[in-house]
Amino acid sequence: MRRKIVAGNWKMNKTPAEATVLVAALREALDGLSSVDVAICPPFTALPAAAEALRGSAIGLGAQNVHWEAAGAFTGEIAAPMLVELGVRYAIVGHSERRQFFGETDATVNRRARAALGAGLIPIVCVGETIQEREADQTRAVLERQVRAGLEGLSGDDWDRLVIAYEPVWAIGTGRTASDAQAQDAHAFIRGLLRSLAGPDAAGRIRIQYGGSMKPGNAAGLLAQPDIDGGLIGGASLAADDFAAIVRGGA
Ligand code: PEP
Repeated sequence: MRRKIVAGNWKMNKTPAEATVLVAALREALDGLSSVDVAICPPFTALPAAAEALRGSAIGLGAQNVHWEAAGAFTGEIAAPMLVELGVRYAIVGHSERRQFFGETDATVNRRARAALGAGLIPIVCVGETIQEREADQTRAVLERQVRAGLEGLSGDDWDRLVIAYEPVWAIGTGRTASDAQAQDAHAFIRGLLRSLAGPDAAGRIRIQYGGSMKPGNAAGLLAQPDIDGGLIGGASLAADDFAAIVRGGA
């Protein structure tokens, strides 16, 4: 039985002071809930404030990206050891906004995921097709390419720490959600790929989140699907009550 994991991707929202307020509200809204792993991924600048506000809480802290080198001349990037020192446990890698606006490729996603694992972080590796790819019946081909290339070179214990997020690009921030059946179909396909890459036992343990306009009203249905093991939540993670309602939908 896979334990569900729900993570909030705050994107480029919340100053450190605002993060402190939101974390306090989240702690209150999630009080008493322990059956689901929960994480929040604030912007880099709010990580120290969020870490402080999370002290003593089971809510995990995540970053929205991580560089593949441990240090060096990479202006504007953040290295895994810097995150580890702040108490960060997760790192989102290959979010579609990074792929679309910042030139992220399957190869760089792979380097980032491996660096995260090497530093003891849990990468949340995002994959998903655009609407054009779905309409051209390319969904499976795209997912296969992203999963194989993004996870190339992983081995052994890596598989037990990996989290994958299936995020159809057409559902992110659009209010348009994949149906339960569409999402389950993609998740089952990804799990099949993982069986061939990691073996059946490890594939059965890897958690695959759904992301894309997940809200309190649709979360329970999505989270009830056999291969959907949690959610990566954008917009709704900025409202404590909505985020908590989604988490409770998976409990
Ligand atoms: C995301 O950014 O990962 C996401 C799923 O966004 P939203 O929930 O707003 O669609």
